[in-house]
Amino acid sequence: MDTAKDTHQELLNRNNELLRQLEEANDTIEAIRSGQVDALIVRGEDGHRLYTLKTADQTYRVFIEKMNEGAVTLNRGGIILYSNSRFAAMMNLPLEKVIGLNFNTFIPEISASKFNEVIKRGWDEDFKSEILLANKNFQLTPCLVSCTTLDLDEGTALSLILTDLTSQKEAEWELKVKNEQLLAAQNAAEKLNNELEDTVRERTNDLLISREHFKLLANNIPQMTWTNLPGGEVDFYNQQWYNYTGRRYGETAGWGWQHVVHPDDLPHTMEKYISALKTGNIFEVENRYKKWDDTYRWHLNRAIPLRDDKGEIIFWVGTATDIEDQKKEMDRKDEFIGIASHELKTPLTSLKGYLQLITNYKKEDVPPVVKQYIEKASVAINKLQRLVNDLLDVSKIQAGRLEYAMGEVDLSNLIKLAIENAKHIYPLYDFDNQSTLGLRINGNAERLEQVLMNFVNNAVKYSQVNKQIILKTAVHDHVVRVSVTDFGIGLSEEQLDKIFERFYRVEDKKFMTSGLGMGLYISTEIINNHQGKIGVESELGVGATFYFELPLLS
Ligand code: ADP
Repeated sequence: MDTAKDTHQELLNRNNELLRQLEEANDTIEAIRSGQVDALIVRGEDGHRLYTLKTADQTYRVFIEKMNEGAVTLNRGGIILYSNSRFAAMMNLPLEKVIGLNFNTFIPEISASKFNEVIKRGWDEDFKSEILLANKNFQLTPCLVSCTTLDLDEGTALSLILTDLTSQKEAEWELKVKNEQLLAAQNAAEKLNNELEDTVRERTNDLLISREHFKLLANNIPQMTWTNLPGGEVDFYNQQWYNYTGRRYGETAGWGWQHVVHPDDLPHTMEKYISALKTGNIFEVENRYKKWDDTYRWHLNRAIPLRDDKGEIIFWVGTATDIEDQKKEMDRKDEFIGIASHELKTPLTSLKGYLQLITNYKKEDVPPVVKQYIEKASVAINKLQRLVNDLLDVSKIQAGRLEYAMGEVDLSNLIKLAIENAKHIYPLYDFDNQSTLGLRINGNAERLEQVLMNFVNNAVKYSQVNKQIILKTAVHDHVVRVSVTDFGIGLSEEQLDKIFERFYRVEDKKFMTSGLGMGLYISTEIINNHQGKIGVESELGVGATFYFELPLLS
């Protein structure tokens, strides 16, 4: 029991001693902080030692206290001789508890060996390194530690300045994450770029192939070809063009081609070209191009526009086909038709005369059957004469010799006569006269009647089921329109464009009708000579209205 008492008494004494020492330590720390002492004695393993702060003036202390970094001084054994409040705060301990502790207390196990190395080196030279510190709650703080030895009177101490790297590390981490994201984005962009480059390379290759393809094709067809921009400037010709014209690129590029078009054909060519560029419709025109030897040859020009996805024209592709030989062939045919129709006309006229004589022959009674034959022969001869007359007209038009005298014509009267005539020839048809009286124009009555009868003959020919035909006049702005309407087979859009051409006939096996495709061609020529206009409005299967327009005499 005594021993226990002693021990209790002993413990009390030691406790009092420790309390006293603690108070003393607190006083010392306070004294150091306030600058009252410049040195202190510390009891180490090898007895008491005196440490003096050589530059321990007030300014220095304040500076150390106020700075943002932790500052400690260690002795050789790693005991903390001095700490500023920032370090204590970093380690989450009251300042008085920090002093006297071994610095190892704040080194987590994972960085123990590194710290030992740092300290070892720090005693030899000024040295900086990153280390991890741990507080009593095992919270880790990354720090940059700068070691410097301090020569104190009582020996050398190691000063550590500890910079909390937490926010810097966080920033670094964020930066790292951002960098990684950036890198990922860069990689993605690079990949995309590579893919794009591949596509561009492929497309360029495709384009090159298709351009070569086009060139190969263009240079191996017999026609001359070109491409032109939406504005009209030509930017490509094939080899045949250069071979034919004997010109260099610069001479006919852009609008330079106009110099090789025959001057007589240029206005018409330009009109069609500009109109095609404006409307985007197919360009088609016949003209003569000057060859390298200064001779001209007829060509048929055609150009179609190439459009993008939005329908905008990118460029035009055109061809010029040499039709000189066909033209000559056509001329020879015209010449032949001219001669043939002329040659036919003489015997036809005498045949008609003899028939007339036979008809009028009254001396003896002609048997009725012979009379019938004579009538049939007359009909056939009239038809033949109409055909020969048409052929003659065509060859006259070709030779530019379709001439006739002009005078005042009463159109209303003309229509009336034409209807009477038509009723006589086509008694099964119903002709509806919707014309007004007193319409006078300047023209050739015979030729205008020819046009009107051509309309009527066609109306009958192409409306075998519905037998109603309307002849009508309409006046607008001192211009009279004379029209013939039927309710027959009508015409398609495509046919409408062509029926006024020479020898054009709609090829339709269903409607085997006689005719050589001359009527409308001659009519057009006649109306053009009258400074009038000829036209048609029609719908396939519904019917057709053919008309001409002439200026009225006031
Ligand atoms: P054709 O002597 O062959 O009738 P045209 O020059 O008078 O020659 O007419 C040319 C073509 O126009 C005809 O072959 C025919 O196909 C078409 N055509 C003319 N008139 C009509 C009409 N009223 N209805 C339908 N087609 C017509």
